[in-house]
Amino acid sequence: MKILLVEDDIVSRSVMMKLLAVYGEIEIAQNGEKALDMFFKAFEKKAPYHLVALDIMMPGKDGQQVLKELRKFEYDKGVMGHDGVKVIMITALDDRKNILEAFRSQCEAYLTKPINVKRLHEEMTKLGFSSKSEKASPLKRTDE
Ligand SMILES: [Mg+2]
Repeated sequence: MKILLVEDDIVSRSVMMKLLAVYGEIEIAQNGEKALDMFFKAFEKKAPYHLVALDIMMPGKDGQQVLKELRKFEYDKGVMGHDGVKVIMITALDDRKNILEAFRSQCEAYLTKPINVKRLHEEMTKLGFSSKSEKASPLKRTDE
């Protein structure tokens, strides 16, 4: 599956790349403008992303704005509900206003930094993404 990681901070970027690598192929956007450009182009090429991991605090367009524009784009293209890209916000902002705003704009999950690895994998599982690697899936049961 295709993942778009949108993150301006180099340290957070490398942490997230390691954590998400087990789920699929990751492409990186270092700012919101670039992220939207990549998202639109992938859609037009009929190779859309399955997941966007989206930071909020970025210079230029922030993650909240990117999420709104991305959902508007999908809406305009007739992509709705479960057919839309899954979006996980990954941010240092943990205030109620940002969390509510993100869910109103239809993110699927909201995780705060420093990232809780177990929660990330739980959210990925909930969204129906499975890792290719055994060790990346702490929820894996022992019954097989
Ligand atoms: Mg940032």
